Amino acid sequence: MIFRGAKVKPRTYWEIEAIAQALRKQCQIDDMEFVPIVKMVESIAGEGFQVVSSDEIGNNEGLTYPDRGIIQVREDVYYAACKGEERARDTLAHELGHFLLHRSTSLARSSTITVTGPLMDSEWQADEFSGLLLAPTHIIIGKTAADVTKRCGVSLQTAINRVKKSKYQPKAEPQSIAGSKENSNSDNS
Ligand SMILES: [Zn+2]
Repeated sequence: MIFRGAKVKPRTYWEIEAIAQALRKQCQIDDMEFVPIVKMVESIAGEGFQVVSSDEIGNNEGLTYPDRGIIQVREDVYYAACKGEERARDTLAHELGHFLLHRSTSLARSSTITVTGPLMDSEWQADEFSGLLLAPTHIIIGKTAADVTKRCGVSLQTAINRVKKSKYQPKAEPQSIAGSKENSNSDNS
């Protein structure tokens, strides 16, 4: 996967939340529980969206080339997402995160980057974006992780992470929030 561990412009949890919220509003799905992530990725990436065979993409479930405006999704993952399978939906939203957040990033070259840790990790950012887009705080508030999985169509791991973070207060230290995720989705691109 192209961005694993890549150092990108740092973004806090709150910044990523604002971007995900703006996108939901723009797509007029702000109050929707089960968002049409396949349609969203297809329309946002346009001709850059490609469904590819496992021969082409190997073990990767998805690959994004933000600088070229391309999102590739393995065909079995694409069809699973079309059927509403949670983990596949996570993967599409994760790739959309790379596409939108890392488009103009020149990797690890800027001397102006001073923050260290997960805030500048492209994988952390894409995972947070995915969870915040599919299961935002205003939709999941008061719900259990099992409920969030069912209603929002996210994996249980994502739902658990989102339920926990939905309780953070807006002035909390971003670094502690960034470091609070035990597991990253390290196997989907
Ligand atoms: Zn990724």
